Amino acid sequence: KTAFVNGEFLPLENARVSVLDRGFLFSDSVYEVVPFYAGRGFRLNAHLERLERSLALLRIVNPYERTRWHEIIAELIEANGGGDLALYIQVTRGAPERRDHRIPEDIEPTVVAFCQSRAPVDPAVLEQGIAAITHEDTRWRYCTIKSTSLLANVLAADDARSRGASEALMVRDGAVQEGTSSNVFAVIDRRLVTPALRDTILPGITRAAVLELAERDVIDHAEIETLSPAALRSASEIWVTSSIREIFPVTTLDGETVGTGKPGPVWTRMQTALQAMAHD
Ligand code: PMP
Repeated sequence: KTAFVNGEFLPLENARVSVLDRGFLFSDSVYEVVPFYAGRGFRLNAHLERLERSLALLRIVNPYERTRWHEIIAELIEANGGGDLALYIQVTRGAPERRDHRIPEDIEPTVVAFCQSRAPVDPAVLEQGIAAITHEDTRWRYCTIKSTSLLANVLAADDARSRGASEALMVRDGAVQEGTSSNVFAVIDRRLVTPALRDTILPGITRAAVLELAERDVIDHAEIETLSPAALRSASEIWVTSSIREIFPVTTLDGETVGTGKPGPVWTRMQTALQAMAHD
C-alpha cells in the first residue's frame, strides 16, 4: 500500500509525521474521505471544495491548487491498484519547533493521504437495516468544519456500540442534528425530511446527492429546521448517509422498531438511484 506524505509517495508502513505536528498535538487539522468506485472518485470535486472550506475556516493555507490535488490523488489511486477504495486525506497546520497553542506564522501544512479498501456493504445491513440510538450532542459547535477533533463522535459511537447499535444520532436543543459520522434522513407522513444545514451539521456529500435524487425522481422532500426525537420515533423510515455507508436503513431506534422493522420502499428506490449515480 502506498501513502502520500508532504510531496512524497512511499509505503504506508513507512509514512511518518513529526510528534510536534499540530494535527497530533491539538487536532489542528482537517480531513476528507472520498469513495472510489472502479477507480473513479464519487463527487471528488465536492470533497475538495469542502476541504478548501474547512481549511479556510481554520485559517490553514491550502497547500495545493485544485489541479495539483487531482494529480496527487490520481497517482495515489493508481499506486493502490484502483478499484473500490476509500481515499483518506488529512491536512494539518504543520509541525512548528515548539508546542504552543497560538498559531505560528510561516508554517507549512502537513499533507497525508492514503487508501483503504472499501469492502462491499454487508448484505445483512441492506436486508435487515441497522440499529441506532439517540445521544446527547456533546460536540463543539463548528461541525461544518470537517476537523479531526472527533472525540465526542468517537465516544458517542462507542456508546452506540455498547448498546448494540452502529450509529448514534446527535440531539441538541431538542433537535436531531446528524450521526457521529453520517447525516440523517427520515420519511415522516410520506415526506422525506432531513435537518436543514446549520453550524452543527456537516454538509454531507451523500446528503446533497440524496437531495438531488429526490428532486430528480420527484420524491416529496424537505429540509426542516427541527427534527424532534419524537417526530423521528414516528417515522416510517430512517436512514443514515455517508460516503462510506452510502445509505443505511435504520430499523431500530433506541431499541424500538422503526416502521415495519425492514428497510422501507423509499429507501429501496433511493438506494437504487444512488448506486446508479455512483457507478455511472
Ligand atoms: N456528518 C459527519 C459528522 C460525518 O463525519 C460524515 C462523514 N464524512 C457525514 C456527516 C457524511 O458526510 P459525507 O456524505 O460527505 O461522507
